[in-house]
Amino acid sequence: MRGLTDALPMIVSIANNKGGTGKTTTAVNLATALAQSGRRVLLVDLDPQGSATVSFGFDKSKLLYTVYDVFAQSRNIESVALDTKVENLAVVPSNLDLAGAEVELSSVRGREYVLKEALSGAARKYDVILLDCPPNIGILTVNAIVACDLLMVPLQAEYYSMDGFPTLLKFIRMVKSRAKTDFDFIVLLTMFDGRMGLSKRIQRELREKFGDHVLKNVIPRSIRMAEAPSNGTPGIIYSPKNKASQEYAKLGKDLMESFLAETVLTKLSS
Ligand code: ADP
Ligand code: MG
Repeated sequence: MRGLTDALPMIVSIANNKGGTGKTTTAVNLATALAQSGRRVLLVDLDPQGSATVSFGFDKSKLLYTVYDVFAQSRNIESVALDTKVENLAVVPSNLDLAGAEVELSSVRGREYVLKEALSGAARKYDVILLDCPPNIGILTVNAIVACDLLMVPLQAEYYSMDGFPTLLKFIRMVKSRAKTDFDFIVLLTMFDGRMGLSKRIQRELREKFGDHVLKNVIPRSIRMAEAPSNGTPGIIYSPKNKASQEYAKLGKDLMESFLAETVLTKLSS
């Protein structure tokens, strides 16, 4: 087992090429859960839509600096990070400026590694860094994947949500071999409705196919979770007793424990 200081920060990318699968909700609530348990957490919003930024009550149109400035290599991560109302939790915000970075990066040498470099400069300040990816597999998602120890794929337990999954897996394998980087990937089922036979069937089929890569932790569908962003408050604070909030809290605990014990796959899923 690695020593605590060698192992940290744990860097987790939250990605899926589909939109609306619960990436941002997972990033925001997992980040909050980990911060509430005393970890120093940084959440990087990598989506030009800025949903994670808004979820903490920031006004996207009034940001002085954003993650765009990090990709433009004009500012370091720490100087762009904003403290949130959650203790121990900072956010690197995003807005539509980031769409420009996707274009500008195309002519930059080593463009896949800009975020990894930037994060290494801030590594000592944080125990956990979460990367909330946009709903595509462009250069921003490549940057996140190259930088992470763990790739978490939130998947809605619905028939069509499986459509893009083989493409995503192919993409993961390609980035892994091209960038000569290694990371585990795990699937988190979100908006799960236990009363629906289909949800259960999809869970079973996924576990048959991907075994330990599919987390036992499942996030149930909850109206309170969906309401929270418009309040500028993470669901886990807005409605802590809610089942989805409790599952995010448990996921944070399990994730941290298994990461420190270097058993992410075996411990989380068995
Ligand atoms: P993504 O970042 O993958 O696009 P979001 O996290 O923004 O997905 O979620 C998509 C929509 O689903 C949002 O309106 C969000 O509030 C809602 N949502 C996410 N998780 C849940 C949940 N567990 N229960 C109910 N609604 C949810
Ligand atoms: Mg999102």
